[in-house]
This record gives sequence, structure tokens and C-alpha cells, in this order.
Amino acid sequence: MVFFSFHDFAYAKEKLKIVSSFSILGDMIQAVCQDHADVVCLVGIDADAHVYEPKPSDAKLILQADAIFINGMEFEGWMKRLFEATKTSAPIFKATDGLKPLSSSRIEMIPDPHAWNSPLNGVHYIENIVASLSQIDPEHKDLFEKNGKAMIDELQNLHKWAEKEFGSIPQNKRKVITSHDAFNYMARDYNIKFYSATGVDTKSEPSAKTIAQIVDTIRAENISAVFVENITNPALMEQIAEETKVKIGGILYSDALSSSNGPAPNYLQLLKHNFMELLKTMRESMEQAKTAQKVSA
Ligand SMILES: [Zn+2]
Repeated sequence: MVFFSFHDFAYAKEKLKIVSSFSILGDMIQAVCQDHADVVCLVGIDADAHVYEPKPSDAKLILQADAIFINGMEFEGWMKRLFEATKTSAPIFKATDGLKPLSSSRIEMIPDPHAWNSPLNGVHYIENIVASLSQIDPEHKDLFEKNGKAMIDELQNLHKWAEKEFGSIPQNKRKVITSHDAFNYMARDYNIKFYSATGVDTKSEPSAKTIAQIVDTIRAENISAVFVENITNPALMEQIAEETKVKIGGILYSDALSSSNGPAPNYLQLLKHNFMELLKTMRESMEQAKTAQKVSA
């Protein structure tokens, strides 16, 4: 058996230790580095990164990290406290670097951090991840570029598919109610109108006035379903569905992956699942409108 002293570690070709702030970003990094690094995520599956409280074990992970990846755009404000407390010297990479943030659909001037909810932005994330990993591990640059290219091809194909599918839905049926304001980038790419009960983070409860506005919108716009999210309490959407007699359209995975046996175990599956759920509900609403027309004719 060989024992390494601390200084020998540099020669022992240990795997890179990478910390990602949340699960969706962690999966993108893993897709690029595959088994050349150990990626750990501070905020896990089905968990809400907006209101996360860092644990002492997170500080330990930060101190052991060779590199740290965050989303940026004010998504994980609590990471700053971890960086200050640990005084980490590891490089910190921002996956949204170079992307122009859209503002919240509810309050202008507040950036929407959920840039990953667009496959086109996903391409940008992967390009940044490839460049960052190549910087800390130049020996595997070719491999990171190859893995990144495969992921980018998948994202571009998915975007083309989604563009065609949403394009086949009339504009007045491309309307969606969600619990928090996490889909402005998807709204831009596929011309979908999203209405949400809370803002771009989940820190505050919606006011009675906001809930009343959502109820009015559902009636005025003839919206047939509302969506719950894996990271938020479904009670509010259930209450709105009950009051307006519309159905729950399904679960959208907005800010976190599902477990490995759930419908959104990785970034690509998450995007596909969300697209499929939205398309299914929009198509059902089209059918309902056709049936109603026939009945009244
Ligand atoms: Zn969010």
C-alpha cells in the first residue's frame, strides 16, 4: 500500500473536487467533466435555492473545492456568506457570465436569474463551463470540449423541436400560470405568456391582491390549467385551481432536478419534461375550445 503525504497529492492525480451551488448547474458540469471530477451540489434535488440556509458541512465542501460554480444573477445570495466565512482561494466561476439578464415580468429592474430555463442559454452555460474547466485542468481540455459539444448539439436540437411544437399552438393558447416567476427566458424563446403568483424568488408570500389578480387573469384569458412546481408548496396553486375550477396542469421543475427515478433527473430531461407538460396542457385547452365551439354551433 502506498501512503501519500499532503504534498504528494498534487502528483497523485486526484479527481478534481467541484462544488456547484445547485443541482441543475451541477448536472451541466458533470456532463462536461464526466468522471474526471467529483461534483457536489449544495442545494440538492427538489430543493429551493432562493431560501437555502448553508450548513457547516457546506463550508467544509467549499474549503476542499478545487473550483466553485455558481449561477449568478443574484440567484444564490447566501453563497457570499460562505465565501466570506471560509475565505476560500478556489476559483469561483459564474455560469451566466456574458448573458444579459431579462428582468422579472412583475418588477422591472429585478433580474430573473432562471436563465437555464432556455436551451439556448443552456448552450451559453456549457460554453462557460468548458472554458472554466479547461482553465483549471488544461490537460483534459479536448475531452471537455468534446463532451460540451455533444451537450450543445442536444440543446440546439431540443430548441429547434420546442420552437416547432410551440409554434403549432395558437398564440392565445400559449398562456401559463405558475407559482413563481421562473420562466421569462422560456417565454422569450417560444412566445409564451407566463403569469405567476410570486416574484423571481420565493422569499415572500403573495398578497391577497396578487392572488385576486391571478384569479381574474385565469377567467379573463380563459386559461384552463395552473402549474405547480417541485420546489414550492402546491397549496397556493391548489387554492387558485379550486376557486377558478381549472385543473392542475402538472409539475414544472423550475429550479431543481428530480430524484434519479423522477421525470427530471438531469438538465436535458428537465427541459424536455417542462416542455411536454406545457404542450400537453395547451393542446388540451385547444381541444376543449374546439368542443365548446361545436356544442354552441
Ligand atoms: Zn426560482
